[in-house]
Amino acid sequence: MELRVVGCHGGETPRHRTSAFVLDRRVAIDAGSLTSETDLRAQWRLEACLVSHAHLDHIRDLATMADNRAQHGCPPLIVAGTSMTIAILKKHFFNGLLWPDFSKIPSAAAPTIAYKVLRPEVTVTIAGYEVRAVMVNHTIDCCAFIVRGPNGAIAYSGDTGPTDRLWEVLNDTPDLRAMLMEVSFPNREQSLATTSGHHTPRTLGIDLRKFERSRDLPFILYHVKPVFQAEVHRECAKLRGLNLTIPNLGDQFIV
Ligand SMILES: [Zn+2]
Ligand SMILES: [Zn+2]
Repeated sequence: MELRVVGCHGGETPRHRTSAFVLDRRVAIDAGSLTSETDLRAQWRLEACLVSHAHLDHIRDLATMADNRAQHGCPPLIVAGTSMTIAILKKHFFNGLLWPDFSKIPSAAAPTIAYKVLRPEVTVTIAGYEVRAVMVNHTIDCCAFIVRGPNGAIAYSGDTGPTDRLWEVLNDTPDLRAMLMEVSFPNREQSLATTSGHHTPRTLGIDLRKFERSRDLPFILYHVKPVFQAEVHRECAKLRGLNLTIPNLGDQFIV
């Protein structure tokens, strides 16, 4: 699978973009900055977007994506998330007020977006991939994803603080090839990280070691807050015995 990093930060500046990744040019994982660095053809080519949770830094560019696809007459973009995430998108985002209801545009029979509700830990097929959502620990309902293609699986943590269930499931996933893992704040902001449901390098190091192959599996770290970037990078560099990568915007990984 080819994994492209469109946005990998927990905030936005000209040098930082919010969470958005694209697998094999077909499936997006979160849509924070999805359209900001994806040309029209690439936007039209997408088949689905997996949405970890409804926070704005993960859904924002669904708005511009839907608009661009509607005008080109694209087939419906599958927008997949847990029931709470989909309910929030319907009520608070594509609600005909903040933004048009693209699940009915241009018509309810042939809409621009089609919602797909994911039940936790039930594997479904989306755009040819096996997708499994696993609930994690954040301030609102949020899930990780395990996405399996023909040659193995990758995992995406979503926004989360310490969790156990995700690691149990991943320890049961022998074909896991890589994981996108969040870390947001430096260690000195631990209380902020705890109340906002995020990791610091300290809790990250503890959590990653719940995974039995933590020395070998490539962990791609994302969601670092721009204000704390240098500090979080320094603290992550001190975590020993883990295969950690901090990606740059535009990076592509073959996993
Ligand atoms: Zn969040
Ligand atoms: Zn976030």
